[in-house]
Amino acid sequence: MTVTPLEVRERYEPSGGIDWRFAPLAAGTFIAALALGGLLYLLFQAGVYLLLLIPAFMAIPLSFLVYGAVRAGHCRSRLIGSALGLAAGVVLYLGSYYTGMVHSIGLGGWHRIDLLPRYIEWRAQNDVARGNHGPADEKPKPGLNLFFMILELSTVVFMTAFAGRASAGRTYCEDCRSWKRRKAIFLPPGSSAPFARALDSGDFSGLEGLQEIEMRVDTRQYAATILERCPSPGHAGGTCPTFLTVREIRFGGGAGTIPRLDLSIGRSPIDRVAIAPEEVSRLGRLFPALAGPSRQEAAVPAPVEVA
Ligand SMILES: [Zn+2]
Repeated sequence: MTVTPLEVRERYEPSGGIDWRFAPLAAGTFIAALALGGLLYLLFQAGVYLLLLIPAFMAIPLSFLVYGAVRAGHCRSRLIGSALGLAAGVVLYLGSYYTGMVHSIGLGGWHRIDLLPRYIEWRAQNDVARGNHGPADEKPKPGLNLFFMILELSTVVFMTAFAGRASAGRTYCEDCRSWKRRKAIFLPPGSSAPFARALDSGDFSGLEGLQEIEMRVDTRQYAATILERCPSPGHAGGTCPTFLTVREIRFGGGAGTIPRLDLSIGRSPIDRVAIAPEEVSRLGRLFPALAGPSRQEAAVPAPVEVA
């Protein structure tokens, strides 16, 4: 077996490509963002409004929609994914003011987007913050209102743009035209070092002692070890690369894969590095949950080689 040092191995890079389906999906995302903006205004009108928290709460479903549109639209450009999220977040937040404006001037004025800046300025001058139980503040505080508007808009846009960028950055196979599947196991912190030595030397014995750790909601530090493969390895002549990542998480946890892998803070000493089929098999023997056959693969009997 040839050993390829870690430094010179192929690494995954998003191609930046995009599918035609992305355009209608993006349009649908904007419509949903506007509807969520309308709902945000209705909550504000009904007095169910907590500064920052309610807009951030509304940004959660929109972030999922952005993530899904990027994924279903096969968008592998982080820039375009972020831009979709950013624009959708702006549509949500300004959409709530737009709904308020149409509510004020009547449905016939739906096309008067030109009045929106003046309407927002008027709201900044006149909105009065109210405690849930206490009496309303006597006077509006325009400076504070503007500060919260900017803070709320930034929070919403950060969440939705992050979702778009993360989705577009997932590993994609240009041959299979599909996103790769990922499997993850959680090892003790510091496990990236023996993995790096194993890949550099071809000697996997240093990995034998590594035991998966039991993940709880409050487990903060771990080495997330991720293998990304094509859903159908037979496709494209079985030549599709498999990528290995070992991410040293310093602050992570939560329940489920997305918080533990995508929303956690850490660095990746091994970042989507291509590994050879025989290395996948050796990892599979050491860590069946990482590189063992998927359920579909296991259901299909292995082809018999004829000498
Ligand atoms: Zn593939």
